[in-house]
Amino acid sequence: MANKPDNNNVDIIVAPSAGFCFGVKRAVKMALNAADSIKPGEGLNTLGPIIHNPQVVKSLEERGVFPVHSLEENNGGTVIIRSHGVKSEVMDEIRKKGLKVLDATCPFVKQAQDYLLKASEEGYFTIMIGDKNHPEVQSVISFAREGRYLIVNGAGDLKGIPVSEKLALISQTTQDVNFYNSIINEIFKIAKNEVLVFNTICDATKIKQEESRLIASSVDVMIVVGGHNSSNTNKLNNICRAIQKNTYHVETEKEIDPDWFRGAKKIGVTAGASTPDWIIERVANFIKKAAKHEGANDLLNLSKCVRLD
Ligand code: SF4
Repeated sequence: MANKPDNNNVDIIVAPSAGFCFGVKRAVKMALNAADSIKPGEGLNTLGPIIHNPQVVKSLEERGVFPVHSLEENNGGTVIIRSHGVKSEVMDEIRKKGLKVLDATCPFVKQAQDYLLKASEEGYFTIMIGDKNHPEVQSVISFAREGRYLIVNGAGDLKGIPVSEKLALISQTTQDVNFYNSIINEIFKIAKNEVLVFNTICDATKIKQEESRLIASSVDVMIVVGGHNSSNTNKLNNICRAIQKNTYHVETEKEIDPDWFRGAKKIGVTAGASTPDWIIERVANFIKKAAKHEGANDLLNLSKCVRLD
């Protein structure tokens, strides 16, 4: 017996901001334009996957754009720098080797690099709130002078802070706003010198998080769409799960179990910054069918979602 919700009156609410952010759209567009103008035999390589979404990486490979893990692997092709940016030493090496480069570093990540460099040059000990394994964090923090930095990803990391120094705080652009604020408050309590705070969480992230919180608090089931290796999608998943325990993180519609929607009247959908529209659409369409769509409402926008509260 197929698992279906109790009746047809199911609202499916998709966050207006779901999917590609400005920086990701820009990077993918730059890669696609380069793929269109590439001459036969020329290499076109992204340093690391262009975004944390295997489906998009695969579709770029079909157009001749391949991820490489190091400059050595590049083998004379054009190097595309993804939206996360690269470590300053990698950029130095690219210049030294005279490699052809297409820099798709998101301007907001570039701004964070500039802030951190300036603060570091002015003698501040720099603290980045983020995941030390994330390429954006590695790229931004590489601009700190003489190893005078600390990456903080939880209250347990705070003990490493040299509290008597002037401190400059910066955040990963996709950080959870509430988490960043809580860490800032903890640092204010222990700091014995000046503390400079840069708000580098980008607006796209803030809007996405706010919409996801709002939707998660008004639905019976929340679906978060995006690469399992995508840091910002995982953060959205955690944010939604803290509000709505029936939250599921899927990469594509193939991972959805229709049983999740049994009895649900409202189903929310959000998606990380590296999730393309076509995957979101496929997920939404799958949900419509799974929720026995004949009587279900069309996809709603956030203004309707606001009224549901
Ligand atoms: S999340 Fe923000 S900072 Fe990061 S790539 Fe997208 S627009 Fe740029």
